[in-house]
Amino acid sequence: MSDKQLEKISQFLHERYGEDEQDFENKMKQSIHFMGAVQDLIEVCGDDPSREGLQETPYRLMKAFLEYTEGYKEDPKLHLQKTFDVNHHDIVMVNDIEFNSMCEHHFAPIFGHVHVGYIPNGKITGLSKVARMVDGYAKRFQVQERITNQIVSAMDEVLQPLGVMVVMEAKHMCMCGRGVMKRSSYTTTTASRGIFAEQAEKRMEFLSLLKR
Ligand SMILES: [Zn+2]
Repeated sequence: MSDKQLEKISQFLHERYGEDEQDFENKMKQSIHFMGAVQDLIEVCGDDPSREGLQETPYRLMKAFLEYTEGYKEDPKLHLQKTFDVNHHDIVMVNDIEFNSMCEHHFAPIFGHVHVGYIPNGKITGLSKVARMVDGYAKRFQVQERITNQIVSAMDEVLQPLGVMVVMEAKHMCMCGRGVMKRSSYTTTTASRGIFAEQAEKRMEFLSLLKR
């Protein structure tokens, strides 16, 4: 690893762990170890880690992983805390929020869209805040089912709405690009609380808003 690369990784780690010097030192040591392991992996796969195109790959991979997992830096539900009092008792729907995540079993990308709908109980949150909260949970090592439930729970806890429902549609590269190689398959998960969990009619109203 060049000094310049180490300097950049150190900057990333400082942003995330800078408050605790000991923690930072540990992460730095682990990162250097990781980059060495990536060189070994390249060799195990049958290539030469010192050839030009691969020389910087361990560093790039380290940096990319710190970006994929930025969600660990925060408590995503805090994004929802700024609320506004509004007298609105029907569905508020945020459609097609893009997300990128990473499958915790294969470290392969998961990407797709989330649709979040809720029925406020006097309190609403900013629409962009919902998207930021989604990012906070997606940018971790995840399974789609967990992200879906974390989103619905965050909305439920912070906004205490009459109901909230989440639909998540995603492609899993661990299924598309390897293993069973099902390129066109995607996975849908749903989670609901309150009225949406209790009343089939309300769920149908939510689902009708997904079709445009
Ligand atoms: Zn996977």
